Amino acid sequence: MEFKICAVGELLVEFLAKECNQRFDQPGEFVGPYPSGAPAIFASQVAKLGFPVVLFSCVGKDSFGKMCINRLKKDGVIVDGITSYSRANTGSAFVTYQDQSERNFIFNIPNSACGLLSFNNIDENLLKDCTHLHVMGSSLYSFRAIDAMRKALDIIKNKGGTISFDPNLRKEMFNIQEMEQSFGYIMEYTDIFLPSEKEVRYFTQNDESEQQTILALLKNGIKHIVVKGGAKGASYYGLDEQNSLKTFHVDGFSVDSVDPTGAGGCFGATFVSLLLAGYDVETALKFANVSGALAVSKLGPMEGTSSLEEIQTFLTKHAID
Ligand code: ATP
Ligand code: MG
Repeated sequence: MEFKICAVGELLVEFLAKECNQRFDQPGEFVGPYPSGAPAIFASQVAKLGFPVVLFSCVGKDSFGKMCINRLKKDGVIVDGITSYSRANTGSAFVTYQDQSERNFIFNIPNSACGLLSFNNIDENLLKDCTHLHVMGSSLYSFRAIDAMRKALDIIKNKGGTISFDPNLRKEMFNIQEMEQSFGYIMEYTDIFLPSEKEVRYFTQNDESEQQTILALLKNGIKHIVVKGGAKGASYYGLDEQNSLKTFHVDGFSVDSVDPTGAGGCFGATFVSLLLAGYDVETALKFANVSGALAVSKLGPMEGTSSLEEIQTFLTKHAID
């Protein structure tokens, strides 16, 4: 099936604390810079699978920005929508892990080149043959960025395209009011919703159960919902021809997790791409589950993106084990 994906949002460099429980308020060692940014990781993973993908973003005219663009180019991402500005530096993020489930970030996004991303950066010509937009909640970090996203969303939706949405909430971003306000708008247009377990609660009304929330979202028009559960795997929810709930679960593969950041993006990119390519939901979820497992096995948020061949090799190996 012919399709082309676009993503809009932060492209930045990430530095990882060397030690577990390393603090930000004391001197310490970090490894990096690694190319990062949730929509950039997503785009890298789509491209590695061999599918066309455009990323709209902004970096500074500095070495960090050059590294990010070169890396995405190497992966096969269409980088014509990335603007390099000399009046701001490339965005950055610092991350430290407490344990597998707890991590702290220091983000430098709205005050970096990323903060310059606006309506005018969304080139209609580049969007011409795009049929799908992926939205990362973390990319809705300013009025300008939301404006850019809405432009892309309106263009894609007006020509019958589809939208996927990963809330990708970071507690460090909770003070960005614009972000929360734009979620309702994005949800109205979402076809594929990819929250993590914790994020489902954020979309719950009153005292609904998780199942009730999911059913309500499906009845409101979302076609596919996948709830990501980290090492536990993921669960799919959709409606069958009789409008009854279709659901199934895949267990997470047992892998050595060295860096959990980026798993959600890789997982989502694989699920969305394969679904758009015509795979059934069961196969798309199985492959996405591998994509997430491979992502956590590598140090660096974008270092664990993988090709279809690598996913298939992993599956073959784990079928024998
Ligand atoms: P991110 O930190 O990138 O935002 P997320 O919270 O959106 O991640 P996760 O649930 O952490 O998403 O990971 C997505 C998927 O990757 C999981 O549903 C699972 O399939 C796979 N995965 C994540 N962590 C592990 C792990 N430790 N072992 C095996 N598979 C994993
Ligand atoms: Mg996520």
